[in-house]
Formats: sequence, C-alpha cells, structure tokens
Amino acid sequence: MLNIENLSVEINNKKILSDFNLKINLKEIHAIMGPNGIGKSTICKTIIGDPNYVVTSGNLTFNSHDLLKLDITDRARLGIFLVNQTPIEIPGVTNAEMLRVALAEKTGKNIGLFEFNKKMEEICLKLLIPKSFIHRGINEGMSGGERKKNELLHLWMFEPKLIILDELDSGLDIDSLKIVCKNILEYHKTHDCSILIISHNPELLASLNVSHVHVLKDGGLAQSGNLNLAKKLAKEGFKGITKSNNISENGKDE
Ligand code: ADP
Ligand code: MG
Repeated sequence: MLNIENLSVEINNKKILSDFNLKINLKEIHAIMGPNGIGKSTICKTIIGDPNYVVTSGNLTFNSHDLLKLDITDRARLGIFLVNQTPIEIPGVTNAEMLRVALAEKTGKNIGLFEFNKKMEEICLKLLIPKSFIHRGINEGMSGGERKKNELLHLWMFEPKLIILDELDSGLDIDSLKIVCKNILEYHKTHDCSILIISHNPELLASLNVSHVHVLKDGGLAQSGNLNLAKKLAKEGFKGITKSNNISENGKDE
C-alpha cells in the first residue's frame, strides 16, 4: 500500500529525514515514536504532499501511484488523509459546505442533500458531538478535543484509504480519547484502509491494536518492533536507542 524508500526531506534547506524507509501494507496499523523535533510530523506532511517539505531523493508510492508526481489535492483524491496535530480553524466555511463541495469533487457527482444530512447526523451520533457541528465553521471556536472529533467527522465522510494520525491524543480528554479510538477502530474494521499514528502513549497504541512500532532517530528508523517497544520507550526514554539494538516481533531484545 504505502512504500517509502530511502526518502530524504528538507525544510528551509535543513535536512530532516535521511534515507527514511517505511512499508505499510493494507489493514496494518503502524506507530512512529521519537523525541520532539525529530521529524515525525515531517513524515506525515511529506506523505500528504505539503509543499513546504522538499523531497531531495528517494521514492514514495501509494498503491503503485508515484506520490512524488502528485500534488496535495491529487494525493487526497487517492484517499490519503491526515488528522493534524493541531487542526486549523477555517472561519466562515462550514463543515457541511466544505464536505459537500469536496465530496462532489472527489466522486464527480453531487450527493443528495437528504442523504448527505442523514450521513452527517449518523456520524455526529457516533462521535457524540452535537448536530450543530454540521453547520459550524471548520474547527471555529472549537476546543482541542472538539477539533479532533471534527476531523473524524471529515474522515467518515471522505472514507480515506490511508489515515495518518499526528499526535492523536493531544487535546483529547480521557473520555473523548476513548470515543475517538472506538471510532477509528470501527472505521478500520469496516473499510479497506491502513493507519499510521504518531504518539508517545503506549496505552493509546495498545487500544488501537497497533501491530508495528518504530522509533525515529537521525532521520531514519532506528528500531522497529511491537507494542513491547512502545512500553520500553515509555519507561526508559529515547536515550538508549541505537540502530543495532533491535527488538523482534515477539518483543524480546535481540
Ligand atoms: P516532530 O513532529 O518529531 O516533533 P517536526 O517534524 O515537526 O518534529 O520537525 C522536525 C524539525 O523540523 C524541527 O527541528 C522543526 O523545528 C523543523 N521544522 C518543521 N517545520 C518547519 C518549518 N516549516 N520551517 C522550519 N523548520 C521546520
Ligand atoms: Mg509533531
């Protein structure tokens, strides 16, 4: 599904990723961990095609499409969807207005108003958000947690194939985090998709059934393993991480 090979990425002439490799197959749920400022959000934004992140070498493909030849809009059309670390406000444009236009653009046909409203209302129920969110400005005046739920409203409507969750838990209280995780798992169960999640929280990674955990260091993946690696990092921090000290799939140090 997603295949990243030897990718090097710069922002403002500063090299952030260097020969970065990652492969995510259909239905897999991967997590990337690493200290602040190491380049985790850079990975997310490079995959979606944010033009500020300049790929200087390597390959990036999604379902055999060469993403490096496609802009951010065409990548979204292929089903790549990012839930931002801090979703921005777009005052004056409502969720409903944006979603109706974007869905018409994606599918090539106008979705009927009745069908559209019905689907939106069902999703609001799933997310335990008021129906008034449908006609609110995008993330306008919303708390951090409400913004994340609002992004999930978009997710259910767009039905993406690759979901990227950058610091999903930031801004979410414990109850909201449970609702959001339940929704993501339900979406994953009912759709052909894969997930990449950035988080420091091993409990969150466990509740999302993450199968592969990676650690980012010096621009590339230093270690890969399973949830035991996330637990180890939460306890011991990133200091001892070296490229040779790998953790195998059964969670034992090699
Ligand atoms: P992480 O998500 O792991 O905390 P980021 O990928 O956001 O880290 O950032 C990696 C590095 O790139 C940081 O040093 C950050 O300051 C820098 N960076 C990110 N975005 C920009 C930008 N638009 N301009 C300049 N530097 C940036
Ligand atoms: Mg980040």
